[in-house]
Amino acid sequence: MNPPTTPDVLVVGGGIGGLAAAFALARKGLGVRVLERAKEFGEVGAGLQIAPNCTRILADYGLLDEARELGVLPDGMVMRDALDARELTRLDLRDLERRYGYPYLVIHRSDLHGIFLRACRRAGVELLTDRTVVDYRQDGDGARVVLADGRTERAPLVIAADGLHSVARRELVGDDVVSSDYVAYRAAVPIEQVRGNGVAEHDVTVYVGPRCHFVQYALRGGEMFNQVAVFESPKAKAGDPDWGTPDELDAAFGATCDPVRTGIPLMWRDRWWQMMDRDPVETWVHGRIALLGDAAHPPLQYMAQGAIMAIEDGWVLAEHAARLTGEGGLPQWDAALAAYQDVRVEHCRRVQTTARSWGDLWHLDGEARLRRNAVLRERATDDYAFTDWIYGPTALTPDREPPMFTPVPLAGARPEERPAR
Ligand code: FAD
Repeated sequence: MNPPTTPDVLVVGGGIGGLAAAFALARKGLGVRVLERAKEFGEVGAGLQIAPNCTRILADYGLLDEARELGVLPDGMVMRDALDARELTRLDLRDLERRYGYPYLVIHRSDLHGIFLRACRRAGVELLTDRTVVDYRQDGDGARVVLADGRTERAPLVIAADGLHSVARRELVGDDVVSSDYVAYRAAVPIEQVRGNGVAEHDVTVYVGPRCHFVQYALRGGEMFNQVAVFESPKAKAGDPDWGTPDELDAAFGATCDPVRTGIPLMWRDRWWQMMDRDPVETWVHGRIALLGDAAHPPLQYMAQGAIMAIEDGWVLAEHAARLTGEGGLPQWDAALAAYQDVRVEHCRRVQTTARSWGDLWHLDGEARLRRNAVLRERATDDYAFTDWIYGPTALTPDREPPMFTPVPLAGARPEERPAR
C-alpha cells in the first residue's frame, strides 16, 4: 500500500545529500518523504573533510556543535611530496577559521550522515528504507516515481539525490560516467595502530606523487586515524575490467617515502573505489524533478567538496523555496527550482573541472613534478587566493558567486605561458 498522504517533496536517496536536503526543506515547514533503496540508512567509507563553506551551513542548521564533538579540528593542512616527504605548502587551519568565520573539520562519514538522520527525525521527515526507485514521470504540477515493486509515489517536487549512478540522471540526461582510471583505498584504524609511525596526528596531510597520492588525518576526537590511498591503475589503462586490485595498490606505492609506505599495509583490502565523475551538465531541473548532489555534479574527490556541494544544494534550494512562496504559503516551485539551477550549476561546474586539473597537478612526474614543487614552496601560508572562491559564503544568486582564482603570471614566464585576460 502507498503511504496515505502526499508529501510536499519526495527525496530519492538517503545519502548525505538527500538527508541534508530533506532536513533543509523540512525546517522551512515542508512535508518531506525520503525513499532510500538500502534496508537501513547508513554510509560506507571513512573520513570526510568539511570546509568552512559547509560548516557555515551546519552552523545555520544548529548542527555545528554536534559535528565539532564528533569530528576533529585539525591544526593544519599540509601537502608533502610522496617520494621525498618534503613539505610543499601548508594551510594554517586556525588562521583559515579566522578568515572565513567557520572551522575546517574532519569527521567520519557515518557520523555526519547520523547528524542529518537525527536532524531529519526531529524535523518530522518521513524516512522510508527498502524503496528502490526505477522510473520517474512528470505528472501535471508535480512528478511521480515508480518503485521496484510497482508502487508509485507523487509529490509537487521530486528531488533525485541518488548518487553517481543515478537512475534519474540516466533517464533525464542520458550521459555516462567518466572513469579517471584512478582507484581509492580507504582505512580508518584506532590511533594506537599508527602512533610510532611518525604520523602528524593534528594535521590533514596529503602526500602527492607520480600517479598516486596518500591522505591522512585523525577522526572521532582523535581516537581513529583515517587514510586514503589513491593511484592510477595500469590495468584500467590496459582496458582490464577487473582493475584497481590490491596487487596494484602495493606496486603503486612501492617507490614512495617511508611515512607513506608504512601506511599502505593498513588499508582495507576487501573493498576499493574506482574513481569516476561526469562531465558537467547545464540542466538539472526537468519539470518538477530536480537532480541534487552526486546525481547532478559528481566530482573527482581532489577538492574534497562532493558532499559539501550536496549539502550546499539543499540549503540553496530551501532558501529559495522559503523566499518564493505563493498561495497558502507553499513554495512556487518553478521559480525556486529556476533560482536553484541558476546559481548552483556554474559553481559546481567550476569545482568539477578544477578537481580534474587539481588531480593532474598532484600526480605529476619527472621535471613537471619538480617544477610544481618549486612553485608550491613559494606560496605564502597566508595566501588565500586559491580558496577564497570556494570557502566563502555559499551564493544564493549568480551575482554573489565569487570570481574564480586567476593565476598571476610567474616571474620570467614567456608571454605564451601567461594566462589570457
Ligand atoms: P550518495 O552518497 O551516493 O548517496 C546516494 C543515496 O541514494 C544512497 O544512499 C543510495 O543507496 C541511494 N540510492 C541510489 N539509487 C537509488 C534508487 N534507485 N532508489 C532509491 N535510493 C537510491 N566529499 C567531501 O565533501 N569531502 C571529502 O573529504 C570527500 N572525500 C571523498 C573521498 C573519496 C575517496 C570519495 C570517493 C569521495 C569523497 N567525497 C568527499 C565525495 C562525497 O563522498 C560524495 O560527493 C557524496 O557522498 C555524495 O552524496 P550524495 O548523497 O549525493 O550521493
